[in-house]
Amino acid sequence: MTKASRVVNHMNTLTVDNMKRTLQRYKFMRKKIGRVAGSNYDLTNKCNLTCEGCLYFSGDGVENYQDVSTCSDWEQFFQREAKRGVNFAYIAGAEPSLVPDRIIAAWQAIGNGVVFTNGIRYIDHDVGFKIHISVWGDVEQGQSYRGIHSPMKAFVNYAGDDRAVVIMTLNAQNISEIRNVAYRCSEYDLPLSFSYFSPTDDYLYRLNSGSVGRSEYFRISSSSNNLLMSQDDFRRARSAIEQVMSEFPETIVYSLAFDSWLSNPDGVYVLDEHGTALNCGNRLTHDFKHFSVMMEEHPGKCCLPNINCKECRAYAVSYASFLTRRGKKLHADTVMEQWVDVWEVWARLFISE
Ligand code: SF4
Ligand code: SF4
Repeated sequence: MTKASRVVNHMNTLTVDNMKRTLQRYKFMRKKIGRVAGSNYDLTNKCNLTCEGCLYFSGDGVENYQDVSTCSDWEQFFQREAKRGVNFAYIAGAEPSLVPDRIIAAWQAIGNGVVFTNGIRYIDHDVGFKIHISVWGDVEQGQSYRGIHSPMKAFVNYAGDDRAVVIMTLNAQNISEIRNVAYRCSEYDLPLSFSYFSPTDDYLYRLNSGSVGRSEYFRISSSSNNLLMSQDDFRRARSAIEQVMSEFPETIVYSLAFDSWLSNPDGVYVLDEHGTALNCGNRLTHDFKHFSVMMEEHPGKCCLPNINCKECRAYAVSYASFLTRRGKKLHADTVMEQWVDVWEVWARLFISE
């Protein structure tokens, strides 16, 4: 055997060993995660914030939904959902912490899932759902983007709480605050991950139309000064994320492979003639449903129907697309390794210990 072929053989052995290790990691993690049968629930149409470009209060008049159901109605509803086979609840709002009895009803019936909250109101510790706290910046900036909000209340509420993960939504104007937020999360013993601002059709329309007036959710943006990420913003964000990943390795829960995919400035979806994503892993199906605050099935494209698909980079829904799409082409061990890395990040964010 020549020296060159010995080297090739050695590399093949390494590759096979590496592949085996990756597969073992994947099997271990899938066993831990189990079968996830999810659906999405909007528990209320009220919120205690007014975020610029809010993805809930936009477009289709959700604030007009009648919210007249009693706690017992919700208990029965979630019991029916559990019977339907749902074993993972994605709990949203507007702001679900404003209706704690409904969260408890979901927890008692379904027993696995995640609550998306702004963290201002503490969710009772008996609720074992993961709790994702959205933060848009440090104290000062957080206030201007989100109305009255100071993220300090959320940090204090959930310090050291093993259910909680802080999700910082990055936009064109808060990239310089990534380090401050990472430092604060490490101080308060809270993991930190990232999402990207994903504009609604309404936000884009208002930006592009000089004639549309201001609203509670469109106070500070203009066509020349807004929250949309440019190619350069994605580059700056990436560099800041890499920096905090090395400075606060115990705090940051994120995958750079996922980030590389998600931060493509052209978007990550193939769109149909109406601008709806054809290859999104988060489209509603017969089983994967989205319920409004009226406990009625929402007929929209996904659980975030107001977001513009071309610009959609909201983390929770993007993981679904990345993981289903990448899983179809595991031809190279580096791709497989990255895919398993992202599964592990997903599990740390969404699965309770
Ligand atoms: S984006 Fe802001 S205003 Fe809209 S529902 Fe969430 S916390 Fe409330
Ligand atoms: S999750 Fe995003 S990409 Fe998918 S359908 Fe909804 S808005 Fe479009």
